[in-house]
Amino acid sequence: PGRLEGKVAVITGAASGIGRESARRFAEEGAGVCVVDLDPSGGKEVAASVDGLYVRADVTDPKDVQRMYREAADYFGRLDVLFNNAGISPPEDGSILETSIDAWQRVQDANLKSVYLCCKYGIPYLLENGGGSVINTASFVAVMGAATSQISYTASKGGVLAMSRELGVQFARQGVRVNALCPGPVDTPLLQELFAKDPEKAKRRLVHLPMGRFAKAAEIANAALFLASDESSYVTASTFLVDGGLSGA
Ligand code: NAD
Repeated sequence: PGRLEGKVAVITGAASGIGRESARRFAEEGAGVCVVDLDPSGGKEVAASVDGLYVRADVTDPKDVQRMYREAADYFGRLDVLFNNAGISPPEDGSILETSIDAWQRVQDANLKSVYLCCKYGIPYLLENGGGSVINTASFVAVMGAATSQISYTASKGGVLAMSRELGVQFARQGVRVNALCPGPVDTPLLQELFAKDPEKAKRRLVHLPMGRFAKAAEIANAALFLASDESSYVTASTFLVDGGLSGA
């Protein structure tokens, strides 16, 4: 049997990048997958390829988040895994001396408020089953000063990490595990968009990577798969780094 046989996962930001690969991997291992994304064309395509359900939702909107869980639970009958992965890293988010307060707020909403809402409205479904796994995508920037000059992004991911740790401790005895998945730089559209603005930045970043390369989205999806499955039954409130050695160097 697959490693997620009988489980249902809701993956946000699953039209692209890490979420897309995770939808594919989770489904391969037997999970029912609800693909959530703002982008209907990518979302529908991914959902069709994994024989899953696509729900269009903006995860910064409490009504959308509640509806997405309702639709997923109605369709699959239960929810076991919440992979709160949607996030943004807009090029206009820069040094604190330059970034606008609007950009700051937009990033906090997309990256931090979204995880708050997805946990707030999703965890009750896991409690109904006597437990489950929540994976919140933070980043290596939450654990190290990486000189990315993206102050809003870094602050939002620090918030995701702290909130995940807190929730992991709070729900440990109720069987709900909550972990912060912290990828290093991953070759996805998000990173490509960022480096398109500043190609020198990509080169500088590579120099600091012990493995000398960016992660593939599939390598992050495999870590998410472990956290989603019962193989990680003793892992909660963790800072789960998948960064090719970057933060350890
Ligand atoms: P991506 O841009 O390829 O995919 C993100 C997806 O999220 C997109 O399909 C987008 O439409 C969706 N999305 C964004 N805002 C949304 C919203 N409000 N509601 C619903 N969907 C929304 O990005 P990715 O690189 O796969 O990143 C996934 C996660 O991993 C993000 O949280 C990102 O911050 C994090 N991360 C990425 C890297 C990297 O280098 N790529 C490194 C560390 C952490």
